[in-house]
Amino acid sequence: MTVLVGVAKEAAAGERRVALTPDVVGRLGSVGAQLAVEAGAGAGAGFPDADYEKAGATVLGPGQAFERADVVACVGLPDPARLRAGSTVVGLLQPLLRPQLMEELAARGVTAVSLDGLPRTLPRAQAMDALSSQASAAGYKAVLVATEHFGRYFPLLITAAGTSKPAEVLVLGAGVAGLQAIGTARRLGAVVRAYDVRPAAKGEVQSLGAHFVELSSVGPAAGEGGYARALTAEEQAAQQAELEGHIARHDIVITTAQVPGRRPPELVTAAAVAAMRPGSVLVDMGASDLGGNVAGSVPAEAVVTANGVTIVGAGDLPSRLATSASAAYARNLTALLGHLLADGALHIDLGDEITAGVVVTHGGTVVHPATAAALTHPQPTEAP
Ligand code: NAD
Repeated sequence: MTVLVGVAKEAAAGERRVALTPDVVGRLGSVGAQLAVEAGAGAGAGFPDADYEKAGATVLGPGQAFERADVVACVGLPDPARLRAGSTVVGLLQPLLRPQLMEELAARGVTAVSLDGLPRTLPRAQAMDALSSQASAAGYKAVLVATEHFGRYFPLLITAAGTSKPAEVLVLGAGVAGLQAIGTARRLGAVVRAYDVRPAAKGEVQSLGAHFVELSSVGPAAGEGGYARALTAEEQAAQQAELEGHIARHDIVITTAQVPGRRPPELVTAAAVAAMRPGSVLVDMGASDLGGNVAGSVPAEAVVTANGVTIVGAGDLPSRLATSASAAYARNLTALLGHLLADGALHIDLGDEITAGVVVTHGGTVVHPATAAALTHPQPTEAP
């Protein structure tokens, strides 16, 4: 028996990534899966149909992935109406941010599997950690995007034509994306400082040769599972006020702060932006329809403020590094499928820690406890 895994072109506007790439076709075959991609699905990430065919995948016409596949592999959630009863959808579905859509999938008889819920600290889950692979791509690209909008060199340059001071970069949020941004900015020769609410981040920042910024007004805010907890309104206001002076002293500010299941916390207020020097650049990795880390950021756009500061709304950075991000994502997804498939069929054993973390809907119900809880107690995810 073989499971047919289908890939359609991603639904979100501007999304260039593809869920599975030609180089995982062999590995999928070894775990009992056959890949079928809709024509052009990989084109945005640099994977033409011919490469899929050469690797042994089938190329389908428009819409056929949804009609034929047992498992639809995606990056972001496709239109639930396109998913067949009895099929499975696997991707980064953000179930905590849209529990109603998960309920709709359950009602349609679709099994939804989301890589967001992976227990990432389990060593055997690390090959499946798509949040980390995509955050890493985003952190790297954030720095390159900043260089495009910044009118000066990043490194210290001493030349016959004069001396150029190194750029001063501040990274707010030092998780996977933030650490990758720190490393990338350091490699370009910038002076880098970083801040995070989790005390564990300090040593990681320093080990990359960056300075850790301590705030006296906000205590440690580590939450569950290695993530940050949401700050109270008072803590957030104190944080914003104390960060303002630090932000004004930097040329480049890259924000990566996230709290699972919540809209991104606002770290940079309009007043902080107004206090920055002309020519400074903010890259807001949290920018989405739900808001972002920076007041005034617009998703997928670069806005120049009245005081000459560029704010880049950069919630789409993995898509801007589509080839590498897709290649890593495809390997993560293939590792997960290898875990869920046995004897050419999908086996959902909710007694297994990895499976219980990722399976959101199954057998007509929302089986993922955190998503079920979000249905009864919605989080404040609306933009302020
Ligand atoms: P994330 O994307 O949820 O958040 C990014 C960063 O924003 C985090 O470091 C978080 O602390 C920070 N943040 C949130 N609110 C903030 C605020 N108000 N001010 C400043 N910073 C704020 O995090 P992530 O990158 O996915 O990493 C989450 C955790 O998971 C980290 O502890 C990381 O080390 C851990 N992790 C472990 C493994 C592993 O063990 N294999 C793999 C991946 C991640």
